[in-house]
Amino acid sequence: MNGLHNLDSHYDVIVIGARCAGAATAFLLARSGAKVLLIDRQQYGSDTMSTHALMRSAVLQLKRWGLIPRIAAAGTPAIRSTTFHYGDEAVKVDIKPEHGVDSLLAPRRTVLDPLLVDAAREAGAVVRHGVALSELQFASSGRVIGASLRDGRGACMTVRSDIVIGADGRQSTVAQLVNAQVLVEGSNASGIIFGYFADLNSDGLHWHFAKNVAAGVIPTNSSHCVFAAVPTSLFVSTFRGDAMGGFLQVLASNSPELRANVERATLIGRLRSFGGAKSYLRHCHGAGWALVGDAGYFKDPLTAHGITDALRDAQLLSRGIVEGGARGLEAYQRERDALSLPLMRTTDAIASFSWDFDEVKQLHADLSAAMKTEANHIASSCQPASLAA
Ligand SMILES: Cc1cc2nc3c(=O)[nH]c(=O)nc-3n(C[C@H](O)[C@H](O)[C@H](O)COP(=O)(O)OP(=O)(O)OC[C@H]3O[C@@H](n4cnc5c(N)ncnc54)[C@H](O)[C@@H]3O)c2cc1C
Repeated sequence: MNGLHNLDSHYDVIVIGARCAGAATAFLLARSGAKVLLIDRQQYGSDTMSTHALMRSAVLQLKRWGLIPRIAAAGTPAIRSTTFHYGDEAVKVDIKPEHGVDSLLAPRRTVLDPLLVDAAREAGAVVRHGVALSELQFASSGRVIGASLRDGRGACMTVRSDIVIGADGRQSTVAQLVNAQVLVEGSNASGIIFGYFADLNSDGLHWHFAKNVAAGVIPTNSSHCVFAAVPTSLFVSTFRGDAMGGFLQVLASNSPELRANVERATLIGRLRSFGGAKSYLRHCHGAGWALVGDAGYFKDPLTAHGITDALRDAQLLSRGIVEGGARGLEAYQRERDALSLPLMRTTDAIASFSWDFDEVKQLHADLSAAMKTEANHIASSCQPASLAA
């Protein structure tokens, strides 16, 4: 539903941003008995600037939440291997069954995000698209006590809540309004161009690395997503004026076969570009507010791990809120930071492009160890209990 009509004046929780982080948080909190309002200024089912590879702990969470059958019904292919290409050397890794997960997934965001929103709504959350946060309401103590919302027709409304959650992405308005401190910042960023190709002859995930270039192939709904990446300092000189020419050149520098394969396939729509942004980890809670997903923590897309961490943090934050008070939110930040810092540092090093093949192999081994720790943590941690318990 769009717009501000029929909203109550108070909710336990208002969640700003209805994509992976926000919709998953709203789902978990509503399922725990909280009265939740979930809003997004964009439309239900719209696309966003992202590719969509999900790692094991994300698939594990979606399985726990009962959402895998819906993802499969949307035609999302199961991914059973991932191959790392270092120049001419290919290292293929089969996805071994662990924590009840025997394959990975990469649903389009037009599949994953609305599916999480539907789950939140079915769990009892009130959902409104086409509604933007304009201001936060503060008590004289400085505590956040609600939000001023505006819809597409210019109607405004102030809604009170016990907590406002910013799941509003990299340019988070909530983070700006509460002045959330940046705790750690990365040094590097990659510029990425990607597109969707029909009839591409490829199986499993592929990640290519060579000097100052990277590329990847991600099987998704009815097509393959193919991306090309360079250090952000080379983004303009590589792609400006002729995005397709630059894209094919980066693919060829990684692997001439990859370029030939992509040239034989059919581009669906147009190429999309992301010029790059440095990683950050922000302080993620305070009196009456919290941040989740990219609003609180972003890292370079080259390791394709933002959605996985957004779903993870939706679970950690929901549990923190259900457990109650400042202690629950402090535990959320502690767990988030401990799990995120190794992923963030390794991703930043990969995004530097200043490695040789032995070094980037070691970085991938470090990343794999951090992902294992994350999956073990998610597998052993409980779902949020009931608010009433
Ligand atoms: C090029 C690229 C490729 C990527 N590839 C991958 C990948 O393969 N795998 C992976 O795991 N991750 C990937 N990522 C990262 C991933 O996209 C993000 O980590 C993920 O989208 C974060 O989700 P989120 O819900 O926190 O925020 P977002 O997806 O950014 O959603 C934020 C939402 O908040 C809404 N919003 C913002 N401000 C307001 C406001 N004031 N009022 C109301 N609503 C508001 C927006 O409309 C938006 O819908 C990629 C990122 C990029 C840029």
